[in-house]
Amino acid sequence: MSTKTKTDRGTDTPIKVRFAPSPTGYLHVGGARTALYNWLFARRMGGEFILRIEDTDRKRSTEDAIHGIIESMSWLGLDWDEGLSRQTDRLDLYSSLANGLIESGRAYHCYCSPEELQERRLAAKMKGEPPGYDRRCRDLSPEDEAAFLAEDRLPTIRFRADLEGETVVDDLVRGRVVFNNAELDDLIIMRPDGIPTYNFAVVVDDHDMGITHVIRGEDHLSNTPRQIQIYLALGSEPPIFAHLSMILGTDKAPLSKRHGATSVETFRDDGYLPEAMLNFLALLGWSWDDHTTLFSLDDLVEKFSLEKVTKSPAVFDTDKLDWMNGQYIRELTIEELTHSLIPLWREAGLLSGGDLDSSEILRLRSIAAICRERLVKLPDIIELTDFFFRPVQYDAKALDKALKKEGAKEVLQSAAAKLGTIGEWTTAAIETGLRELADELEEKPRKVFQPIRAAISGRLVSPPLFESLEILGREESLARFRKAEELLID
Ligand code: GLU
Repeated sequence: MSTKTKTDRGTDTPIKVRFAPSPTGYLHVGGARTALYNWLFARRMGGEFILRIEDTDRKRSTEDAIHGIIESMSWLGLDWDEGLSRQTDRLDLYSSLANGLIESGRAYHCYCSPEELQERRLAAKMKGEPPGYDRRCRDLSPEDEAAFLAEDRLPTIRFRADLEGETVVDDLVRGRVVFNNAELDDLIIMRPDGIPTYNFAVVVDDHDMGITHVIRGEDHLSNTPRQIQIYLALGSEPPIFAHLSMILGTDKAPLSKRHGATSVETFRDDGYLPEAMLNFLALLGWSWDDHTTLFSLDDLVEKFSLEKVTKSPAVFDTDKLDWMNGQYIRELTIEELTHSLIPLWREAGLLSGGDLDSSEILRLRSIAAICRERLVKLPDIIELTDFFFRPVQYDAKALDKALKKEGAKEVLQSAAAKLGTIGEWTTAAIETGLRELADELEEKPRKVFQPIRAAISGRLVSPPLFESLEILGREESLARFRKAEELLID
């Protein structure tokens, strides 16, 4: 299927978009949001989505970063069409198009050395003049060029930018943004080593790959007029642009490490579910209406549109992400949840690595089931359930606030007597027994349950009490009561 965009150029061009990360680090949540919006737009419109690795910054690009980006994209479930494309595989193309621009008069060789440029920038700054390139090599005579070459200078190639007039970006998100051409200097498009600069490579690729829409971060908006001039110089129609707003922390400062995790990998390792992460990222700048917050990926594909992407900055609110993650955990079946928890229990040394028999699996499922409502992130399971797997360890709060309280010992003794006599060891029978006990002791149920909870779990907070007792079993529960009592002997 190939649907046309509403904002198209009146032609039959099928939608084609790309996510074009520079592999200089992990996949940042801002990048992941850009990837998601491109992916959703392509899937919504029946178009194509490409992953293009922009690795022309050879010093800072690494294979590890490429792997990391691919892994994060796969974890999120964002697949791409066509093979992975890398700029360093396409160096000949950039070079030939740059030479073509020289021939057509839209680019020229510049022989100024980095040191000379730096000196001139400083001098301009001292005089309060703009620091951009002074176009010294823009109109060199063949003799001047020959003289520079005789000095063994290695030229860069610069774009001959328009000196007058305006360049207009008709942005799908930001509206009409007008740039004064006089403010755009002649940027370097090829370095002396034959490597293109970002602004040139990106245009060549988007042009060569037939990209119809460029959806990217607002930080690139100032590059866009320069890129538009290059498209036109190459005889290509610029794509349609949509620049996404910044992502801010809850303190309204641009999102940075200071706010905590910013890489998709870290969120994965912290126990967030990809479904929650995607849902959360989708809402960083897009909304369907003013109240719906939970969207499956299918919902998003059905509903996403660039028209509803907002211009105002998005706020990255970890509390909202936590809430959302909890919602998605509750949507997992007990089997799915148990399956995701087993590796975490193993990693924490609570469960051995061998095969699990069916009774062990049933027990793990019961534990998962009573915890599902309480998990914000999957690893929360460890602190919540460790007592099921190893001898109870009492924490200071449990000792001070529950076990060493007056009457705790009596409660434990009478609870042991009561639970020793109930017939079936089921949640319902345990609950009835313990509520009766509260009546008999003329105590509030909470007062009775508190020391029992502390005795079996070692903590003040645990999964639901009666269910936990059932899972531990009568013998183990009563043994824990005794252990706690012993602790309380003066
Ligand atoms: N490689 C650029 C970046 O990582 C993306 C450029 C673009 O999307 O045009 O910021």
